[in-house]
Amino acid sequence: MSGAKFLTDKTKSLSKGDGPRSLVATSLHSAANNLQVCWEIDEWSRWRQEASEIKRYVLSNLDILLGQFIDKLESKGVKVICAKDAEEANNEILAIIKRHNAKLAVKGKSMVSEEIELNHFLGERGITSYETDLGEFIVQLAGTRPSHIVTPALHLSAKEIGKLFEDKLGEHNSAGHEELTQIARRQLRSKFIESEIGFSGVNFGVAETGTLCICENEGNIGLSTSSPKVHIAMMGIEKLIPRLDDIPLFLNMLARMGTGQKLTTYTHLVNAPAEGTELYVVLVDNGRTRALGDVEFREILKCMRCGLCMNNCPVFRQVGGWAYGWIYPGPLGIVLTPELLGIETAWELPFACSLCGACGAICPAKIDLNHLILRQRRRAIEKNTHGRKLTETIMWKLFAIGASNKYIFKTMMFFVRMGIRFAPFLPFKFGKLKAWTDGRDLPKPKKFL
Ligand code: SF4
Repeated sequence: MSGAKFLTDKTKSLSKGDGPRSLVATSLHSAANNLQVCWEIDEWSRWRQEASEIKRYVLSNLDILLGQFIDKLESKGVKVICAKDAEEANNEILAIIKRHNAKLAVKGKSMVSEEIELNHFLGERGITSYETDLGEFIVQLAGTRPSHIVTPALHLSAKEIGKLFEDKLGEHNSAGHEELTQIARRQLRSKFIESEIGFSGVNFGVAETGTLCICENEGNIGLSTSSPKVHIAMMGIEKLIPRLDDIPLFLNMLARMGTGQKLTTYTHLVNAPAEGTELYVVLVDNGRTRALGDVEFREILKCMRCGLCMNNCPVFRQVGGWAYGWIYPGPLGIVLTPELLGIETAWELPFACSLCGACGAICPAKIDLNHLILRQRRRAIEKNTHGRKLTETIMWKLFAIGASNKYIFKTMMFFVRMGIRFAPFLPFKFGKLKAWTDGRDLPKPKKFL
């Protein structure tokens, strides 16, 4: 049975219920679709290799390509702003908005804007930014963060969304997908017309031509970037590709891995501001240059934000996106968040992994995620970020010695087997561990070789 077939069958067996059940079913379903459309192409491995090499080239020549990209943009009348961190990016955006005396904005989905918490920043200064992507619209209405980078409302069932629309918008309670979409569409229509500013992210910036490539399925980005007079595009500095000719490869891969489509419904290639409008590009660093200099981990900057490593991760499917504490969940977040925020802040993440390797095996940019996770784990241990006690350090050092010598290891295993055999009679069956041990039987130890 193929992996995709297995996942489809497994999905069918899960009813689309509430909360975690919906999360498991939806992410399994997405993973199955993604794999199906990838494995039907013979050149898939070659594509992965090419994409990986192109992105590696970009990272090795980022300064040159960024310079080329900025020159091209400026020669076409695009105003480019380079922001070293979230604060600078937000302040620059605010300055643009103030210059245009704007109070309302519409926004397409953008992970960089989540990273700098743009909506929150603007909201505190009296500027309303409406999310127009359906999933983002739902999570904004719920007052929560997205739980997935591609499908932000993955954790909610249609029933829960219907209830949310009833409570927050006064709409009648419905669980029909089409009806829910129509409600959101009706609510958002006027916002596109009223807003003076349109925000978007950028999927790929083409250095050769200064082109912004933006992919979407709902038409909301087309409206957000063309209806208001001012378009502000936010982009992480690593999102470059060298040539226009590279676009077909990346479009094919992003859509297949991201949503299981052959191509996204709309692809916008923005080259210059339309007549009578202004176009700003905000290039956000926010820790990326530091990550680039980190030779062990710079590969994570090859990521094209397809989200497949999340759908494919057994831990993500159980705990959901919020458990990862910041905006990048799953295997991507485990590696990227410590790079951008520092391992001291995100030290717990590398331990939220079973090291099954499913993410690295499927990543379209060929990022060796499982080994990067392991290295982040080692870094957390080396920096003792979680304040490990001396006794624990000694215990693990002794274990490392024992595990690397077969005679000591065999002796250790002998005592472990003895311990398990006699455990039911040992004192820890009582005392503090009673509640836990009462409900569980230890498995019989296997005979050791
Ligand atoms: S790490 Fe790989 S699989 Fe995960 S989102 Fe990035 S490109 Fe996709």
